[in-house]
Amino acid sequence: MMALAAPLKKMLIGRTFSTEKSRIKLFGEMDWTLEPSRGMAQLIQEPAEEVERRFKESGEDFLFRFGYENGKVITDELFKYLRGEDKKITQKTINDLLEFIGIGQLEFISTSTEKDGHHHVVVRMTNNPIIEHARKMYREKSMVCSFFRGIFTAHGEKYFDAKNFHLNEKKCMCKDPKISYCEWESRW
Ligand SMILES: [Zn+2]
Repeated sequence: MMALAAPLKKMLIGRTFSTEKSRIKLFGEMDWTLEPSRGMAQLIQEPAEEVERRFKESGEDFLFRFGYENGKVITDELFKYLRGEDKKITQKTINDLLEFIGIGQLEFISTSTEKDGHHHVVVRMTNNPIIEHARKMYREKSMVCSFFRGIFTAHGEKYFDAKNFHLNEKKCMCKDPKISYCEWESRW
């Protein structure tokens, strides 16, 4: 309870998030929508299964592209509204925001970057209820992680200022029942 309460309180008191006219706003401007996690798992998985059935295309590749394009829209909108001090996004800010919106936590295992865009980034996604529900519903057939890899690839590109950034899944909690995280890596 305490772990969730702290960032939540901070964002509400700091008016990072507010509600007005029955809408949830970030910085008083950007619209947000809260969705049930189990339903989200289905919303992500089913189009990928349909793509495989109809077009014989990899559902994971489809979800990665879809997540990447979605991540770019989200990142561009976020940066449009971030001002001054807020622009200095730290790993803690990212995790506070992720915790607040309920899509897990990122553990930064490796974050080495060079000025020319070369990098080695390894992150672990834990405590993501959408991935956890997908594991229960679809087990090793779950493709939802590819959607998140796509989103975080778009974010990572901008955050690390890295070239040829592409998160690949090294370990997956949907495919390996012994672990409780997914590990994603980008190296160039
Ligand atoms: Zn995974």
